[in-house]
Amino acid sequence: MAQTKDYYAVLGVPASATQDELKKQYRKLAAKHHPDKNPNDPKAAERFKEISEAYQVLGDAEKRKQYDQMRQLGAFGGFNGVGARRPGAGAPPPGGFPGGAQSFKFEDFDIGGLGGLGDIFSSMFGGGAKAGGARARGPERGQDVESQLTIPFRVAALGGKVPIELEVNEECATCHGSGAAPGAKVQTCPECQGRGSISFGQGGFAVQRPCPMCLGKGSVPTERCPTCGGSGEVRVRKKMNITVPPGVDTGTKIRLKGQGGHGARNGPAGDLLITFQVEPDRFFKREGLDVIAPVPINIAQATLGSKISVRTLDGKKVAIKIPPGTANGKRFRVRGQGITKDDRQGDLIVQVDVSVPDKLTDEQEKAMREFAEAGGLKY
Ligand SMILES: [Zn+2]
Ligand SMILES: [Zn+2]
Repeated sequence: MAQTKDYYAVLGVPASATQDELKKQYRKLAAKHHPDKNPNDPKAAERFKEISEAYQVLGDAEKRKQYDQMRQLGAFGGFNGVGARRPGAGAPPPGGFPGGAQSFKFEDFDIGGLGGLGDIFSSMFGGGAKAGGARARGPERGQDVESQLTIPFRVAALGGKVPIELEVNEECATCHGSGAAPGAKVQTCPECQGRGSISFGQGGFAVQRPCPMCLGKGSVPTERCPTCGGSGEVRVRKKMNITVPPGVDTGTKIRLKGQGGHGARNGPAGDLLITFQVEPDRFFKREGLDVIAPVPINIAQATLGSKISVRTLDGKKVAIKIPPGTANGKRFRVRGQGITKDDRQGDLIVQVDVSVPDKLTDEQEKAMREFAEAGGLKY
């Protein structure tokens, strides 16, 4: 599995870059490595994925702030997948957290010195670190997992199925979530006396944190489960197919009930929240529910009229009659061939793009001169 990448290096910008500079650089790189421009080039596809991933974090000022804090703390050098060891935590941030190996140990940190780091973790990983005191030790609902999903324009417009791969926490199959090695006994945690949380002073306040010894459970096994290291959870990559409803736009969110992190102690699973990002299309642009298709025609077709064939969103062909004397940019509406959403139906709008020839035969040039002179121009 890839090590956690430096997103700034991925985009080739200094950490001091402004949001605008980031955006510009991302657009440049994304255009260059876009799969549409590099068909059958897995390297470009990988690079495109990497660029998108970096920009999903750095392009969002709030996420970037959190990322910067983690980066400054050196967090990305030594560990991946912080949530793996904490119950109720560990969902990847939107867009997925790269890496994800279970190398981080909560115990490795002097918890009193963490300062606000726990809060960064909890917001970065989706709000897992509940202040310990209030933690119920009964069933606990699993974590909501947020993810961004980039989909092709046509899938967004017409709907469809898209495969997705996510990192989620699932119950450890060896210990069934207890964290105890097979045959080991479970005893009250000596560190927190079974409360599941500890408090420590911080600038005059007593702050509650999940107990680092029992990871908030309140009990510890005499021997930890060798598979999950005692957390009761393992981090797995989960593949699934997402059904995309028709009419999705960039920023559209859907919630898939029960597809998030597993619930601890027989609690219900969390939800999977997907935010869509729609890739630009080579042929179509979206305007509300209408789909704009620029179609090139030549000056003779525009002047004398013509019949052209245009592909619709779903790949069918429709014939459009171009009347004589059609101006550049003129739009022709094909009813009902746009995006359908909530019983409303958009149209396909064919917009002619009249191209001017840069080379003419002698005969064509002569005809053009005559045409111009008939309009009163002298050549
Ligand atoms: Zn286990
Ligand atoms: Zn404890």
